[in-house]
Amino acid sequence: MTLLMCLTPTLIKSQEGIDVLLPITLNLTVLTDPFSISAASRDFGNITDVNPGAVLCPSTPAEVARLLRFANGDFSYDSESTTSSPGFKVAARGQGHSLRGQASAPGGVVVNMTCLAKTATPAAVVVSADGTYADVAAGAMWVEVLEAALARGVSPVTFTDYLYLSVGGTLSNAGIGGQVFRHGPQISNVHELDVITGKGDMVTCSPKLNPELFYGVLGGLGQFGIITRARIALDHAPTRVKWLRILYSDFSAFTRDQERLISMANDLRVDFLEGQLMMSNGIVDTSFFPLSDQTRVASLVNEHRIIYVLEVAKYYDTTTLPIIDQVIDTLTRTLGFTSEFMFMQDVPYFDFLNRVRNEEDKLRSIGLWEVPHPWLNMFVPKSRVLDFHEGVIKGLLLNQTATSGVTLFYPTNRNKWNNLMSAMIPNEDVFYVVGFLQSAGGSHNFEELESLNDRIINFCNNSGIKIKEYLMHYTKKEDWIKHFGPKWSDFSRRKMMFDPEKLLSPGQDIFN
Ligand code: FAD
Repeated sequence: MTLLMCLTPTLIKSQEGIDVLLPITLNLTVLTDPFSISAASRDFGNITDVNPGAVLCPSTPAEVARLLRFANGDFSYDSESTTSSPGFKVAARGQGHSLRGQASAPGGVVVNMTCLAKTATPAAVVVSADGTYADVAAGAMWVEVLEAALARGVSPVTFTDYLYLSVGGTLSNAGIGGQVFRHGPQISNVHELDVITGKGDMVTCSPKLNPELFYGVLGGLGQFGIITRARIALDHAPTRVKWLRILYSDFSAFTRDQERLISMANDLRVDFLEGQLMMSNGIVDTSFFPLSDQTRVASLVNEHRIIYVLEVAKYYDTTTLPIIDQVIDTLTRTLGFTSEFMFMQDVPYFDFLNRVRNEEDKLRSIGLWEVPHPWLNMFVPKSRVLDFHEGVIKGLLLNQTATSGVTLFYPTNRNKWNNLMSAMIPNEDVFYVVGFLQSAGGSHNFEELESLNDRIINFCNNSGIKIKEYLMHYTKKEDWIKHFGPKWSDFSRRKMMFDPEKLLSPGQDIFN
């Protein structure tokens, strides 16, 4: 990206489409070149294209605060603007891995959070002397947090599957993966945040200090403030991982075992649990399995049309090595998988956590990374998971001529989430994370995938399955009110408290 200091007043658009001059007295590093504007207008979803008027590449949080105070009508920096109420939109952008323009700011200013991470002093990730937490610039990626922590023998406890996401971006959603059942989402593992509110106030918050802002921002979809620093919990890091994929042809046995494993509390419990589907109408990726077993795995999928893959991992190092055989033995003896279809790899801890990077490389090499991604993610209450499986997986997904991408399917525990936070989950002790991660491209038509998503949602609505969508994008206010349910009044009250001009993260389409 070309970085140019803006030495002339920059023209952007207010919410009402009126021209606004960003005066040079604000002293901001603003980019308006076509490359920067174009890069900030797209995201991973590759579905929307929304141009900002400018991109701010701040070198200090104070620059972001100045921008927001000016947007709120603080004219103390303004000798040149002709408008009385700037009121332009502002969106933080981490890695832009949103699906439908959630990090965009039409006509307004996109704040490139990577710039802040690069200039953070003394570093973007600072591990505490006792190794129990790290202070992290919110624009840093989780892979950077992991690398810095591992250099000290410690690690965050809970991860997204993909590590090249910004800390601020996942904390604005939830940050979920295979460790959630034990440690909760990433939003449950934060001690403290520095936030610049929509009014331009720089506030430190935690469960004790400014809790309203702290809990609002976690899972808050960027609506209340821009996180600039997060204090992330760390724990001892293992060195290696036994990583297993265990195949089931029977859905009930698969979910029964998953649910039992996430309820275990002793030393023999696994550290990571997910699940995914292999379907005969999709690409059957057998690369995890030994070469000599790949044909029989593919045949199993063809025979049953759908195979459920339980994915678990047990971490270890020299001190915990003795327990590993016992764990594997217990899994082998007690799980109800399809006989002789349990496979294991032994990998370094970092490689395990970074496993999706290999998938990214593969997809890039066949041109399937930078394509539209009409992904659909949701949480399904355990009590209705059998109905969901019959209606959605067998009734809709398996009846598609072809599916593309991965379908994730695994349970987690509600008690690891804090209901004071903005994130929404079903009202049951156990619920399933289900992700239809389909990509358009090749023979897969975008409209067909969108239509499938609609039919999945309609099926759930018509059958009374009370799902909660994750990483969703609604365009109607009533859908947001329904999504937040009992939390809507707190959510909109916090908006009035922290961003009364409704400037922040307009791409979420909640208060526009
Ligand atoms: P962006 O797209 O840049 O921003 C997302 C939203 O957060 C926007 O509204 C933006 O304005 C706001 N925002 C960004 N930074 C800040 C900040 N510092 N302060 C306040 N608001 C901010 N999610 C999971 O939970 N688990 C997964 O396993 C997982 N895997 C993924 C794999 C891939 C390949 C992809 C593309 C996405 C995945 N996601 C996953 C989704 C991901 O967590 C979200 O899309 C997340 O928002 C991405 O972070 P980002 O830095 O790209 O955010």
